[in-house]
Amino acid sequence: MSRALVTGGAGFLGRRLSARLLDEGFDVVVLDNLSSPSPLGPPDGATFIEGTVVDPPSIDGPIDRIYHLASPASPPRYLLDPIGTLRTGGEGTRQMLDLAEDRNARFLLASTSEVYGDPTEHPQREEYTGSVQVTSTRACYDEAKRYAEALTYAYHRTGRVGEVRVVRIFNTYGPGMAPDDGRVVSNFINQALAGQPLTIYGDGSQTRSFCYLDDLIEGIWRLSASDVDDPVNIGNPEEMSMKELASVIASEISDTGIDYRPLPESDPARRRPDITRAQTLLGWEPRVGFIDGLPPTIDYFRSLADG
Ligand code: UDP
Repeated sequence: MSRALVTGGAGFLGRRLSARLLDEGFDVVVLDNLSSPSPLGPPDGATFIEGTVVDPPSIDGPIDRIYHLASPASPPRYLLDPIGTLRTGGEGTRQMLDLAEDRNARFLLASTSEVYGDPTEHPQREEYTGSVQVTSTRACYDEAKRYAEALTYAYHRTGRVGEVRVVRIFNTYGPGMAPDDGRVVSNFINQALAGQPLTIYGDGSQTRSFCYLDDLIEGIWRLSASDVDDPVNIGNPEEMSMKELASVIASEISDTGIDYRPLPESDPARRRPDITRAQTLLGWEPRVGFIDGLPPTIDYFRSLADG
């Protein structure tokens, strides 16, 4: 049986990816420091190890694949600990690449649309070099992931890690998100469920494109099973403004009004993946429209709120 290590495997994406790997017949080890776990907990059937990627515990035995997802990922979380975020992306990724070298494992890096910063090119193709303001608060995450990509390719080019995959993950939503992680979809749904106004940052004209969890996991799975070693965007190109998002959530749950708040520094004005590469090389595209992924997501948050 093949064995996979999933770092960040107790998080929103990692636990579902781990479940998929178990379904595909892998023996799965999860390494997670539980700094931003999914309320649903680590996946059943995986071996759970609590620890960090920066100072990882030793993991015995063969490892065929490493899926390196561990990092704070929501803006309020990574802004709380900017140095820790940089260390996780830098030193944590180095540690996991060393482990991949040691075990001759295929290495998949979970990168992000944030490598494009506040993009001047729209939609974003993988060739776009990005527009990150290095001195901004957000740079702790963006530059950590850019460095992690550069490090991954450095290990690959020098022959230390033979097989690398890099997925650039765009905004994702679905059951398993932490209700308090500060992301817009979880905030809006929980606010509407609690009868509170939806907090729009800025004037709400900024756009994002939200991918349903199941689609994202399918994309990561396909990339990791492929021979594509260039970065690949995985996301849903269905783009909407935060104002539009608020009105969709209000109509699905209840209209609780809007509370306008200041726009965070360097908040990207727009974001939409160009998914031509994933379509062409992986035969992947999203199947779940935003509106179709909402009911299971709302049901999930409602069940958490009901305790
Ligand atoms: N946002 C908002 N209200 C909230 C949380 C976020 O208007 O309660 C905005 C945020 O400023 C950004 C967008 O929604 O423009 C997406 O934010 P999120 O934190 O979900 O993800 P990211 O900024 O990393 O794409």
